[in-house]
Amino acid sequence: MTVWKQREESEGKRRGVFITRKGSLQTPLFMPDATRASVRGLSPEDVEKIGTEALVVNTYHLFLQPGEALIKEAGGIHTFMHWDRPVLSDSGGYQVYSLIHKNPDLGRITEDGAEFRSVLDGSKHLLTPERAIQIQFDLGTDMMVVFDDPRPNDASEEEIVRAVDRTLRWAKRCRDEYDRQVTARAFDDDTRPLLFGVVQGGMILSERKRCALGLIEIGFDGYGLGGRHVDMEGKFLGELMTALASFIPEDSIRFALGVGKPEDIVRLHSVGWDMFDCVIPTREGRHGRLFVWKEGKKIDSNHLDFYETININNEQFTRDFTSVDPSCDCTLCTHYTKGYLRHLFRVEESLAFSLASLHNLRFYAKLMEKLREM
Ligand SMILES: [Zn+2]
Repeated sequence: MTVWKQREESEGKRRGVFITRKGSLQTPLFMPDATRASVRGLSPEDVEKIGTEALVVNTYHLFLQPGEALIKEAGGIHTFMHWDRPVLSDSGGYQVYSLIHKNPDLGRITEDGAEFRSVLDGSKHLLTPERAIQIQFDLGTDMMVVFDDPRPNDASEEEIVRAVDRTLRWAKRCRDEYDRQVTARAFDDDTRPLLFGVVQGGMILSERKRCALGLIEIGFDGYGLGGRHVDMEGKFLGELMTALASFIPEDSIRFALGVGKPEDIVRLHSVGWDMFDCVIPTREGRHGRLFVWKEGKKIDSNHLDFYETININNEQFTRDFTSVDPSCDCTLCTHYTKGYLRHLFRVEESLAFSLASLHNLRFYAKLMEKLREM
C-alpha cells in the first residue's frame, strides 16, 4: 500500500505528493476541520478559495447527527456538503474516549468497542472497530482512520501498554473490515479510500515503536500520531516524534492528528511528518485572535518566531484603519480595517467570525505553501 512519493525537486527535504480518489495532494498538508460537515462559519466555496485542498470530518459527530444513512442517501459527504475535493474522516475514537473519560456514567470501553449514551438525546450506541469503518464507507470519505484506544500522556505505563495492545487488535479488525468493504463495494486500487492506522504509546518510546511496527505489519496507507506531541507541561517531544517518524516507512503518509499551532506544524514537519489538521485557526478566529506574519523571517525548526497573534478585541485597534496583515491576500486583509473588524466583534456580528476564521485559514494555507517552497 505505497502511496507517498517524494517530489524530485525537494532537495532531500520531505516534500511530496500522494494520490486520493479525489485527486492528488501535496505535502506538507494542513486540513481544516469540518467536524460536523462544515468549517464553522464558512461556506466550502470560501474555504476552497483560500487554498484549502482537503477537509477533515468526524465520524462520531456525523454518526450521531445527522447519521451516516442520511449522508449516504444525499449521495455521500461530497454531495451533501458541496465539497468536491478530498475529505478525511477521523474515526471518532478520541471523541468517544474523551466523553467516557470525562463522565464514566455515559459509557464504557470493552474489548468489543465503546458503548456510550448520546449527549444529544441519551440514546445508547455501540461503536466497534468494524462499525467505525462501515460508517466511514457510508459517509463516502476518501481517507479513513482506524478506531483506536487513545490514552493521555500521563496514563500509567500499564494502561499505555494495554491501550497499545488493544489499538493493535482493533487496527487488525478495522483493516479486515476495510478489505471486506472494498470487496463488497467493488472498489479497485484507483477508487478505494486510503486507510490510516494510529500509533499510540504515550511518551514511552518502546511502546510507540511496538505500536508502529505492529501497525506496519498489518499494513496501512498512512500512519497517524495518536495522543499528544507535547508532554504534560506542554514541552515539544522532539526526540520521540523524530524517532516515531523514523519507524514509519518513507513511502507512507505520516499524519499528525490534531496538530496544531503553527510552530508545532513546522517542528513536526522538520522531523518527518506530512499531514496536519486542527481546529485552532477557526477557533482562534472566532475569538478574535488573528495570526499575522512577521516580515522577512526565516521559517524552520530553529526559527519559530515567524508570526505573532493579535487580539482584535483590544482597545488599541478601535481607531486603527489599517489592514490586519498587509502581506495577506484574504478578503479581510484586502477589503477591511482592524477598526471595522473590532467593531464587528464588539456587536457580535457573525461576519466577524467568518472574516477572522478565513484569514487564519489563509495563514495556515500560506504556511504550507512556504514550507513546500523552502
Ligand atoms: Zn488575511
